[in-house]
Amino acid sequence: MKSNIKTKPTIYMIFGGTGDLAERKLIPALYNLFLEGYMPKEFAIIGLGRTDYTNESFIKNLLGGVNKFSRSGKADKDQWADFSSRISYLRTDVNNEGDYAKMEQVIDKYEAEWSEPPVIIHYLAVAPNFFPIIASNLAKMKSAGDAERTRVVIEKPFGRDLETAKELNALLRNIFDEKQIYRIDHYLGKETVQNMMAFRFANALFEPIWNRNFIEHVQISVTEDIGVEDRGGYYDGSGALRDMLQNHILQVLCLVAMEPPVNFDAEEVRNRKVDVLRAMRKFGPEEIRFNTVRGQYGEGWVKGEKVEGYRQEQGVNKESNTETFAAIKFFIDNWRWQNVPFYVRTGKRMHQKSSIISIQFKDVPHLIFPNNSSESWQQNRLIISIQPEMSIRLQVQAKRPGLDMTLNPVDMVFNYDGTYETDTPEAYETLLLDAMKGDQTLFMRGDQVETAWDLIMPVLESWEVKKSINFPNYSADSWGPEAAEALIAKDGFHWFTLPIKKSDKK
Ligand code: NAD
Repeated sequence: MKSNIKTKPTIYMIFGGTGDLAERKLIPALYNLFLEGYMPKEFAIIGLGRTDYTNESFIKNLLGGVNKFSRSGKADKDQWADFSSRISYLRTDVNNEGDYAKMEQVIDKYEAEWSEPPVIIHYLAVAPNFFPIIASNLAKMKSAGDAERTRVVIEKPFGRDLETAKELNALLRNIFDEKQIYRIDHYLGKETVQNMMAFRFANALFEPIWNRNFIEHVQISVTEDIGVEDRGGYYDGSGALRDMLQNHILQVLCLVAMEPPVNFDAEEVRNRKVDVLRAMRKFGPEEIRFNTVRGQYGEGWVKGEKVEGYRQEQGVNKESNTETFAAIKFFIDNWRWQNVPFYVRTGKRMHQKSSIISIQFKDVPHLIFPNNSSESWQQNRLIISIQPEMSIRLQVQAKRPGLDMTLNPVDMVFNYDGTYETDTPEAYETLLLDAMKGDQTLFMRGDQVETAWDLIMPVLESWEVKKSINFPNYSADSWGPEAAEALIAKDGFHWFTLPIKKSDKK
């Protein structure tokens, strides 16, 4: 379906245009936006990188990426020809001040040719150590101060702790207005995650029971079946807490727990999310001891093949203390959520790749049915599955057909695949379009990032200072360390998993 959203003439300057992210995600996303009519009539994509490419060789490489990674399959010849005629390559070194003058010339050229001054989006798809130097050099460009037209998209990770996040924020705010800064967390662009807002605030049904009186506990589980693959060097300096929990998981948690915003305005929505982070209970030594679990995967077998342990992976320190698994029990100290535990976990080399939010409701106050009427009693549960399946399930008890009153749980399922004919857009499509439109709702504001770091810092510091004596403590293809099961089992619950469908198996 073609869009009728009007976007202004736009220049996407992609720093790291020759990198993995650009090839796998950014260019396929822009191409799909183009196919669906979301790109403005006048747009240009300038790939920036140090490699010696011509326009032609650069575009040829990108076509390879689109053919391999685009959700719309192999590129259509004519459409690609049209799209790629707007792409060019500029060889640049981000450290070289003179190269920014070259970028400015390109911008000036389009500005002179086009019907109106373009929106300029500097997309920083480079290693985070380059963010400060790029921002400082962009500051010298005449377009930098134009808060209406110039935007800068910052990839993750945003800092590696509270202090570095604050430093980066201070540097960026010195150059740009907050409304020019787009801190990306691609999780927020995912359809099911966005649907949390619609689900909660466009239905009268859930909001009255969305609180401590009806909800017993909440789980957010983001597990991967792969190991660190070729990112060992990077990951060993990061770990599960930084890579997944501080950003993606806490952002999802905010969507589950936030108060209803007054409207859908970016500032309003982001204010309500920060409120959640600010209300989350801080960690003292006792909370760290009883409410957190870390893990590191050892070797094991995955689908009949032997796989290495984390410490044997390329680029990883042989005595690494980095966690590849983290589970935390959080509390939110406000009226809505007092004493409702929020269990979150994330890990690599787990039994299943999945991202699930599970909201378990309290049990019925009194059971009127005979004891033997239920085969498998299950309290009501709402399960929002982000991947591999995109679905929302409500688990309810029902009578099994037959002459006896036998109860068992059944799922009421809203599955994206079966409900909508249109393909769901990739997260990056949503976010790249929002950046063009100037909509920051799905991007993280500076104080949001800092508050999330602030919350997690005591855990991070404690884990760094106290070396784990039992790493590796879970084997590949498992559900993580035993202690993570105990963390939730001691409260009488268990981690929820969706059964693996045949189509999900690799
Ligand atoms: P990459 O190593 O594949 O690419 C890095 C890019 O930086 C290359 O284009 C390279 O030419 C460019 N570069 C390096 N030094 C340069 C210099 N001095 N001057 C100019 N350009 C220079 O990295 P990537 O995987 O594409 O990741 C880029 C950023 O995106 C990182 O911050 C990463 O954390 C983030 N990110 C990546 C992914 C992903 O799937 N790859 C996902 C989420 C976030």
